[in-house]
Amino acid sequence: MTKKLDKVKILEPINPNKSTALFGGKASGILNWNDIAYPHFYQHREQIRALFWRASEVDMTQDIKQFGTLTEKERSAFLKIIGLLATLDGPQTDAAARLSNYSTDPSVKSIMATIADQESEHNHSYAYVLSSVADLKTQNESFETGRVDVILLKRNERIVEVYNEFALNTTIESALKAMVYTALLEGLFFYSAFAFFYNLARNQKMVGTSTMVSYINRDELQHGRFISDLFRATLSENPDLNTKEFTDWVYDQFRHSVEQETIWSRYQLAGIDGIDLIEMEGYIKYRANKMLRLLGLSDIYPEHTENEMKWIRAYVDNFDDTKTDFFEQKSRQYTKTSDLNGFDEL
Ligand code: ZN
Ligand code: ZN
Repeated sequence: MTKKLDKVKILEPINPNKSTALFGGKASGILNWNDIAYPHFYQHREQIRALFWRASEVDMTQDIKQFGTLTEKERSAFLKIIGLLATLDGPQTDAAARLSNYSTDPSVKSIMATIADQESEHNHSYAYVLSSVADLKTQNESFETGRVDVILLKRNERIVEVYNEFALNTTIESALKAMVYTALLEGLFFYSAFAFFYNLARNQKMVGTSTMVSYINRDELQHGRFISDLFRATLSENPDLNTKEFTDWVYDQFRHSVEQETIWSRYQLAGIDGIDLIEMEGYIKYRANKMLRLLGLSDIYPEHTENEMKWIRAYVDNFDDTKTDFFEQKSRQYTKTSDLNGFDEL
């Protein structure tokens, strides 16, 4: 039933420029944005391209001074959470590239190239932040979190399974499943981590790090929108895969992910001043509903259709839904200082 996908040639002049299918189709490899199968992908391209930023342009001077003044609990959560983000975000460069490799639509390849590049900057930003506030041994320990932390390993089990299945047994079905996990990463898995940094920022702590996190957050929301559109278009091109069984699988992954995210947030955020764990759980469920709707599915947490974590709206919802965002208003703090922050030690 599922179609094994072949590796795609780079150029095939006998094929048309406008692709015949997103995966498993025919295309010449020549990309003409005015003649693509899904014209609205051009808007995604423009929105994603507009997000360019570099970690090393963010001023970390205050964060370097403040890190030592954080509580022990905040410091340890900070290091673990950066470790979590690096674990999830690092492989996204490769995951985006591999989806791109198997797509037969040149517009998808082009958008995925920009997404992969942005993921690479996200990962770089975690190294940049850590090199600003911690010695090399501590930095390395933080990056080990994804390999050794039992709760995180458990939490990431299904991502590992689904991504590797796609990598080793590439079919349209395994690609669709990888897209579901990409959507979960972009739209749900990072959000308790983001909340931790925004909570520090609202207490005027580690604002440089939070500014960077807000750029990552903004990128992930755009990536999530594109991957959801790609998922829906791929599914509608392959109606044989659009079954109740598959939909149930997606819902099951969302339920499982919400459980794992909630366990993780309790493990990492308990005792952090300003974070209410019940509110956090509601926020995670709200994010799950939101991503399900983007994927063309329905809410599974009807009591969480609104974001109850009111304070976080100033940081997240603004650039989720409108043009302005909290950190844009604070652009004074976005100072370019390529050589003031100890990044040379990396
Ligand atoms: Zn990312
Ligand atoms: Zn992303």
